[in-house]
Amino acid sequence: MPELPEVESLRRSLLPHVIDQEIVQVEVKLSKLVSGRGTKRHVDESKPVEFMQNLVGKKIATITRRAKNLIIELEDDSAILVHLKMTGQLVFKPKLDSKQTKSHLIFGGHPIQETELHLPHKHTYVIFELTNGTLFYNDVRQFGYLLYFANKNEIVDSGHFDDLGFEPFAEDFTFQAFNEKLVKKTGNLKKVFLDQTVVVGLGNIYADEVCFRAGVKPTRTVKSLKPEEIKKLYEAIKHIIPLAVDLGGSSVANYLLADGSRGNYAREHKVYNRGGKECYTCGSILEKVQQAGRTTVFCAHCQK
Ligand SMILES: [Zn+2]
Repeated sequence: MPELPEVESLRRSLLPHVIDQEIVQVEVKLSKLVSGRGTKRHVDESKPVEFMQNLVGKKIATITRRAKNLIIELEDDSAILVHLKMTGQLVFKPKLDSKQTKSHLIFGGHPIQETELHLPHKHTYVIFELTNGTLFYNDVRQFGYLLYFANKNEIVDSGHFDDLGFEPFAEDFTFQAFNEKLVKKTGNLKKVFLDQTVVVGLGNIYADEVCFRAGVKPTRTVKSLKPEEIKKLYEAIKHIIPLAVDLGGSSVANYLLADGSRGNYAREHKVYNRGGKECYTCGSILEKVQQAGRTTVFCAHCQK
């Protein structure tokens, strides 16, 4: 599943290709994906036509992001909310100009296989024809969704962003604000980071990396944290998330960037996926435990 840095990298890569482009045609091959969210969503067979009619003729103004939701904003203030969930991919294929013989794909999300380079393929469910190329939505497991909103403010009213914590890049994510929200939580640090209610963007990889950098065990209860430890956690988030975005996220998350390259943040991982190996800092063997159904790795020597 892509984490926030991967989704943000995809947004940044797609943006220059689709901005100001008109949606010329839309084809939806699976009603479920535009009917709602969740595995038990009600499938509305009239939605694909409605989705298409709402979009054709409009220009894409920009793409924004809230947590792992991409918001394709249109010139009339309507919007498409896209969530890739487990295996969603967005692939942009530019139109060839007269000098080119081969088109360069711009993609991100679940990694693309050699056999899937010819688009559309059997897992392509939504196709947007734009003035300058085609945007494909592929999703092997079909957990993702693309929802139309007549006004982008309705996305907030619809509850899609309820209970989401601070954006790590936002100005309102100050130490005071983080501290205030964190100390009200119960449970261990890893669980609180994973549930996204304090700050978004810390999935399994980055939660472990942040705790390592801060020198705090992810198994600690929030209530046991000292003020200086909370400060170190805050500083670690402010350091790691922007760095991960700049490096294009982590390829170990089964994720490719919009330009087809692999994320370079995987090289920076200090603890994630390294259980049983030596700590780069002190040489101790890194410990591996299960927390909230996920594997947590930490150094019992470097982290208190
Ligand atoms: Zn160590």
